[in-house]
Formats: sequence, structure tokens, C-alpha cells
Amino acid sequence: MAGRLEGKTALVTGASRGIGYQIAKQMAAEGAHVIALARTVGGLEELDDEIKSAGGSATLVPLDLTDMGGIDRLGGAIKQRWGKLDVLVANAGLLGVLSPIGHIEAKVFEKTMTVNVTSTWRLIRSVDPLLKAADAGRAIVMSSGAAHSAKAYWSLYAATKAACEAMVRSWANETMNTPLRVNAVNPGATRTRMRAEAMPGEDPKNLPTAREVAAKILPLAFDDVTETGKIFDVREGRFLSYRDPA
Ligand code: NDP
Repeated sequence: MAGRLEGKTALVTGASRGIGYQIAKQMAAEGAHVIALARTVGGLEELDDEIKSAGGSATLVPLDLTDMGGIDRLGGAIKQRWGKLDVLVANAGLLGVLSPIGHIEAKVFEKTMTVNVTSTWRLIRSVDPLLKAADAGRAIVMSSGAAHSAKAYWSLYAATKAACEAMVRSWANETMNTPLRVNAVNPGATRTRMRAEAMPGEDPKNLPTAREVAAKILPLAFDDVTETGKIFDVREGRFLSYRDPA
């Protein structure tokens, strides 16, 4: 049976490990050519090996998302090679630091904002025309429950995710009358390095794996998605609208 993403091209950021790695692998298994972006070449090569041994194909992009010119050049390269982009998964992210707001170091604040927010905007700006050139462009932006929970010490990370959701909502309203569908995702607590950094005392065995979570995010890339400007809550398995908060 043909895969649900046969003939499509999907750009996945943060594809060297965790949720992004699994999304990239599963999209390739559905037939997409995956453009896998991260800094760690070893993780990207491992992904490439897995994708190829399952009969799929990938292009590896070792890039630090603080390199805004690099993001612009990537958009140009995708345009030149494919003329369009079917799927964007803006998944890469940093936790930054869990700290009282008054104690956050400026350089940590700025780096976290740059990777989580500025690079997401830059990526959107770079590929928006390419997603619109696709028959059924899909954008998936990774958020977090932290964007809404206002937990003590999580201000920096929460602010970055709230900013990403705000961009998704406006972008969805701008593109409502096109085939492009753009949504945010709250994956929920997932067994990854970032979660272990945030919750070192927790037993990771009690958490869903990145593979399980990715499988629930994957359908947001399919042609039959009609929702736009919403948050898909993985644990609830449904879209939340902004009038229907978590
Ligand atoms: P991981 O820390 O396991 O993976 C993060 C990914 O982002 C890595 O591939 C990393 O690649 C990439 N990345 C980080 N910084 C940069 C950078 N400067 N340039 C390019 N790539 C970068 O995180 P998760 O898989 O857990 O998280 C994925 C997404 O899901 C994130 O946006 C996170 O905020 C969100 N999320 C995760 C939850 C969880 O419980 N795990 C819960 C809620 C949301 P490399 O280091 O190789 O560059």
C-alpha cells in the first residue's frame, strides 16, 4: 500500500534525537523525502541509516538554528531542488533554564528565545511561499502544555512556547483561504533528553516514548487535515481551539 506521504517533501527540525527523530523516521516510512535538520551529525546519520534501511530517503542538514542566514539559504535550496515544501515540522527546541524569573541570565534568555522563537519565525518566513506552492501544505509547530500552565520557574520556556502558538494562530488566519493548514502540538510529557533535564527525579519508564508520541503527531501532515490555527493535544488525542483551553 502506498504511504500517506508518498511523493512529498517534509522538513523536520530537531531530527537528531527525541520526538523529531521519530517524526522524521515515521514520515519517511510513509513515503516522504525527509529533510532532517539538527546540529548533531551523528544523530542525523543514524536517522539516515534507519530511513535508508527501511527503503526511504532523506537529506541531512547539519545547521544550528541560531544561524538565521543558514535558515534563509535552506529555504532557497528547497525552492531550487523541489520548488515547494509539503510539510514543515518546527520541532527543535531548548528548555533554557528552570529558574525564578529574576534570576535568569540574559544570555540564557536570549539563546532560548532565539532557538525556540526567532528561528521558528525565520523558518516560517523562509518556507511559507514553498508550503503555499504545495497542493496541501502542512505546518506543525511544537508547543508545550507549559505555554498555558503558568508554573513557577518555567517562565522562559513557557514564554517561548506561548510565542510560537501566537505565531501559529495568526499565520493560520492569514492562510485560512488557502489549502495550507498550520497547527501547534502539545506532545505531553515524553521520554526524551529534554524531559530528563526538566524532571531529573522522574522515572522515564513511566512516560510515553518519543516513537509513541510521534505516531500521534504524524497524521497532522496528511492531506485530510481540515483544522488550522489550533493546538493538537497528544494525550487527549484531539484539537483544542483557543476558546476551548486545556
Ligand atoms: P530533545 O532535547 O530530545 O531534542 C531537541 C532537538 O532539538 C534535538 O534534535 C536538537 O538537536 C534540536 N536542537 C536544539 N537546539 C538546536 C539548535 N540550536 N539548532 C538546531 N537544532 C537544535 O527534545 P524533545 O524531543 O523532548 O523535544 C522536541 C520538542 O517537543 C521541543 O520543541 C520541546 O520543547 C517539545 N516538548 C517536549 C516535551 C517532552 O516531554 N519531551 C513536552 C512538551 C514539549 P541538536 O542538539 O543535535 O542540534
